[in-house]
Amino acid sequence: MTKYIFITGGVVSSLGKGIASASIGALLESYGLKVTLQKCDPYINVDAGTMNPYQHGEVYVTEDGAETDLDLGHYERFTSAEMSRDNNVTTGQIYGSVIEKERKGSYLGACVQVVPHITDEIKSRIFRLAERESYDVVITEIGGTVGDIEGLPFLEAIRQIRHDIGRENVLYIHLTLVPLIRVAGELKTKPTQHSVKTLREIGIQPDILLCRTEREFTDSARDKIALHCNVDKDAVFQAVDVNEIYRIPLMFNEQGLDRLILNRLGLKPNNSQNLHAWIELNEKISALKEKVSIAVVGKYIELQDAYKSIYEALRHGAFANDTALEIKRVDSELITRENVGSILKDVSGILIPGGFGTRGINGKIEAVRFARERNVPFLGICLGMQCAVIEFARNVCGLSEADSTEFNQSTPHPVIDIMEAQKAIIGLGGTMRLGAYKCRLEEDSFSYRAYQRREISERHRHRYELNTEYRALFESKGLKIVGTTLEETLAEIIEIPEHRWFVGCQFHPEFKSKPIRAHPLFKAFIRASIDFKNSK
Ligand code: GLN
Repeated sequence: MTKYIFITGGVVSSLGKGIASASIGALLESYGLKVTLQKCDPYINVDAGTMNPYQHGEVYVTEDGAETDLDLGHYERFTSAEMSRDNNVTTGQIYGSVIEKERKGSYLGACVQVVPHITDEIKSRIFRLAERESYDVVITEIGGTVGDIEGLPFLEAIRQIRHDIGRENVLYIHLTLVPLIRVAGELKTKPTQHSVKTLREIGIQPDILLCRTEREFTDSARDKIALHCNVDKDAVFQAVDVNEIYRIPLMFNEQGLDRLILNRLGLKPNNSQNLHAWIELNEKISALKEKVSIAVVGKYIELQDAYKSIYEALRHGAFANDTALEIKRVDSELITRENVGSILKDVSGILIPGGFGTRGINGKIEAVRFARERNVPFLGICLGMQCAVIEFARNVCGLSEADSTEFNQSTPHPVIDIMEAQKAIIGLGGTMRLGAYKCRLEEDSFSYRAYQRREISERHRHRYELNTEYRALFESKGLKIVGTTLEETLAEIIEIPEHRWFVGCQFHPEFKSKPIRAHPLFKAFIRASIDFKNSK
C-alpha cells in the first residue's frame, strides 16, 4: 500500500517547500524506500513552459520532455526519483481535462462542479502517479500558500484523500515561518497559529509542522506552537536558516523527522538507515578550500531562481573538484566590446546559459569572443552554444552578418536556423524539441574525455539548430562538431580543439547534475577553469 505525504506552506511564500519536500524524499530513500515526488501548481498555465523566468524562475525539463516547475529540479537533485510529465500537475491541466470530458459527454448530464469533478480529477492525478511504479511513498507538494483562492481545490482534494484511503496512510506536513522581530529580539509564533487555523478551516489538521526560523527557538516556544496548533510537541520541527541547502536532510534527521514520519505512517524500512552519501557530501562541502570564479553571462541575472539548475550544476562541478565556487553573475545587456575585458578579466571560466529572444545577445557574443581569444574555459549551453557559433562565423570566418534567424530573419548567413520540424508549428506551449535525445560523441574531444562514453543522452528545449551547411567552413577554420544526433542530422556539441577548453552544447546538461554525482561536462569545465587559474 502506497503512503501519501502532503506538504503545504503557510504565512509567506518562498520558505523552501520544494527543498523541504526533496529533503524528506532523500531521508525516506535512506531507508531503502521507493519514493516519488509531485508538485501541484495552482496556476492556470498548462505548464511552466510559457512563463517568463522573471516571474516563475527556471523552466525545468524532464526526461519525457515536460516543461515543469523548478521544484522538480530539487526533487531530482536530492533523490533518485525520475521526474516525468505526471510529476507536475497544474490547474490548467485539471480544468483542461475536465472541460474535455464534459464536451465528450463523459459526465452523463451532470452539472460539472469544482467539488466533486475538479477535486476528483486532482485526486486521480495523485493516484495515477502512485500507480506508475510500486512506490512506498508519494510526496505531493501543494504550491502557493494556504489561504490562496486558487489553491483551495487542491487542499480540498488532499483533505478527501485521507478520508478515502484511511488515516494511517496519509500525513499532512505544514511548513510555516516563525519570524524574528528584531527590535524586540523575539520570535513570534502567532503567524504559524493563524496559518494552521486557516488550514483547519479547510478541514486539514496538520500532523507535523516544519517551522522556518532565523534563530533556533526554545522548548517553551515549541510548547506554545504545539498547544495552539493542536500538534504533538514532538511533531514541531525547526528549519533554521542554513547557508547550504544540502545540509537540510541531515538537519531534519538530527531532529528525528524521518523517524517520526516512518512511525506515523507505519512504514517499515527496507534497510537500516544509510545516510553515508549525505554525510560525505557535507564533509566535502565544509572542507572546500581554493576558490574558482566563474562568470555566468545571461539576461535573467538579478533573479536567484532563473538559472537555478545552472548554478547548482556549477556547484556540483566544484564539489567534485574539491573547490569552492564563486559565481559572478553578469548581465549580458551591460557588456560591450569596450568593457568586456574589464568585466571578465578576473574570472577563470565563462558560462553562457540558454535563453530566448534578441535582448542581451550582443553582450553574449562579446563574452564568447573574449573567452575564445583569451583562451578562457568556456561552456555555452543551448542559446550559449548558438552564440558561440555566431561569434565564430562573424569573427573567424569573416561572415560579419552571420546570425540566428531567431534574431534576424533576413540574415545572409543563417548559421543558426529554425529546425525543419519546427517550421510548421504555430502554437507556443510544449512545441519545442523537448526532452531526452541521444547523442554520439567523437572520441578526440573535450566532451568524450569528460563523459568517457561514445553515446550519451541529454535533455533538450529548443527550436533552432546549427545550420550544417556551414559545417565544412567551420571545421576548416577550427570549430568542430564533435557530437551529433544518432542519425547525424543535428549538431549537438561544438568545440574548438585548439582552445584550452571550449565546449558548446545544444542540450541542457544542468538538468541531470546531482550534488553527489556532478555532471561530467560541469566537472570538466570547472577542472579546466581551476587549471587555467593555476596557470596564471
Ligand atoms: N532560443 C534558442 C532556441 O530556441 C535557444 C533555446 C534555449 O537556450 N533553451 O533554439
